[in-house]
Amino acid sequence: MKKLIVGNWKMNGSLQANADLVSAVLQGLPSPLSCGVGVAVPAVYLAQVQALVQGTGVALAAQDVSQHEKGAYTGETSASMLQDVGVRYVLVGHSERRQYHGETDAMVAAKAQAALAKGVTPIVCVGETLDEREAGQTEQVVKRQLAAVIHHVGHCTSELVVAYEPVWAIGTGKTATPEQAQAVHAVLRAQLAAATEHAARMPLLYGGSMNAANAAQLLSQADIDGGLVGGASLKAADFLQIIAAA
Ligand code: PGA
Repeated sequence: MKKLIVGNWKMNGSLQANADLVSAVLQGLPSPLSCGVGVAVPAVYLAQVQALVQGTGVALAAQDVSQHEKGAYTGETSASMLQDVGVRYVLVGHSERRQYHGETDAMVAAKAQAALAKGVTPIVCVGETLDEREAGQTEQVVKRQLAAVIHHVGHCTSELVVAYEPVWAIGTGKTATPEQAQAVHAVLRAQLAAATEHAARMPLLYGGSMNAANAAQLLSQADIDGGLVGGASLKAADFLQIIAAA
């Protein structure tokens, strides 16, 4: 399958910085694109970046979505709003949302369902903390997180993208080794295969300090179909090197 590389800008950017970054990325992209490319941008900049990437093959992604359809949910953004401004993918259950905003497995599942209902593809993030890894609970944790989503979305499971992001590797410069990542990806693939006959063609992304130097090795693993790239997606040269590695 074609690899998928999605940059996660997190809470970074400005009108000027976004325009500069997107233009540098677009200038450096190979043509034709050999892999899928997306950028997950802050909600307030979705419309700006949509205009910048329209017609380029770069997909627009959001970083979060409300589990509710509409109404009295101050500050939230609905899936239909995302769809309205051209969003193709949305991150759900990023560890920073789980950690700082109290998102539970059930909420993450409801968000994935809300996105699917509007034709926006959820990128479901799962991953263990350092304590959980050291306690030997990695497999149990990621399976629990993914199971909640699978049970909620049912036959739409095959429409998901899944990102394995070990929390201890996010923004820390500590990357999972290709073998560590592959081992978890294989577990997730098997779990998906139990739910859908399409598991083999579902993109499983790795995220957590992926950079220009380690991307090729990670992406060469059998069950690593792409990357969710935080810090390195804010520098055009680094992001382009990761895309080249894919
Ligand atoms: P990082 O972030 O690449 O900066 O570790 C990845 C992510 O949180 O999606």
